[in-house]
Amino acid sequence: MENNYDLIIIGGGPAGLTAGLYGSRAKLRTLLIEKMLAGGQIATTDHVENYPGFMTGSGQKLTEIMENQAKKFGTGFIMAEVTDVHLAGNEKIISTSQGQYKAPAVILAMGTSSRKLNVPGEEQFLGRGVSFCATCDGAFFEDLPVMVVGGGDAAVEEAIYLTRFAEKVFLVHRRDALRATKVVQERAFAHEKIKFVWDSVVDEIQGENLLERVVVKNVKNGRVKEIAVNGVFVYIGFLPNTGFLSGQVQLSENGYIIANERMETSLPGVFAAGDCRQKLLRQVVTAAGDGATAAFAAEKYLEELR
Ligand code: NAP
Repeated sequence: MENNYDLIIIGGGPAGLTAGLYGSRAKLRTLLIEKMLAGGQIATTDHVENYPGFMTGSGQKLTEIMENQAKKFGTGFIMAEVTDVHLAGNEKIISTSQGQYKAPAVILAMGTSSRKLNVPGEEQFLGRGVSFCATCDGAFFEDLPVMVVGGGDAAVEEAIYLTRFAEKVFLVHRRDALRATKVVQERAFAHEKIKFVWDSVVDEIQGENLLERVVVKNVKNGRVKEIAVNGVFVYIGFLPNTGFLSGQVQLSENGYIIANERMETSLPGVFAAGDCRQKLLRQVVTAAGDGATAAFAAEKYLEELR
């Protein structure tokens, strides 16, 4: 594969895929680097209903369409892990597990990764009861009790999804009110299989070979109790995948990339798009908007550079 491009996009979620589509349609030689299958986090979501024009369907289906659309216009794809980047100057160098790639413009669209509970048992039972993906692992818990931790859209939507398989779903949240969108909350409150455990945090995950119970503490009265479950699905938010940037572009105190409305970062020729950017709303629709804007701004930047 060629190593020199006009535009390199790091990350193949909706932001990166949309940037690929727009970059290629602008006739930029565009390469998208993704360490796994394209799609990002939304590809592991069973049900998407708030992306305009896509009434309902799986996240995987939606991102398959986006990927095919970007490929149709010529976006090149490689599956590789980015190990290092050199973003200063006119030639940006991206080092990956598959070699080095160069371009004068780069779009950072690496998204975020699941935040961990960091409690005893979480690592030990990972893949043996602890999961960060209900769509991937939910079916293993047919007629068994499971727990979801968190109170945002992801936790509540995935709790509803898990009711298809599980005998019962305990939703453990650290406060007594959910953060999730109201329509999603209503569905969860109305569901007979979902039992809410308010004002509570996970202290420990226990079992023998497989996960058997979770120790939960009430943060208001300090009471500790054990809940017998075979699965724990952790949905307590995300952390930005910006570690490899090692301070080359300006980040927020939480590690998100700071970019302006043109998606320009603190470095010329380097743009940011999607969930890894400091922003108000992290959804497919805003990721796609970021990706389109970033590619358009990159095109203008390259025109001025020539
Ligand atoms: P989120 O909105 O940040 O919610 C994280 C939840 O985890 C919050 O309820 C938070 O509690 C709780 N939490 C955070 N740290 C915790 C800890 N250390 N221990 C226990 N609980 C903790 O994250 P998300 O639900 O993963 O969603 C991420 C983004 O994707 C959001 O912008 C969301 O709207 C979006 N999203 C959208 C959809 C959709 O549109 N259908 C679906 C999924 C996700 P507090 O409430 O007390 O802070």
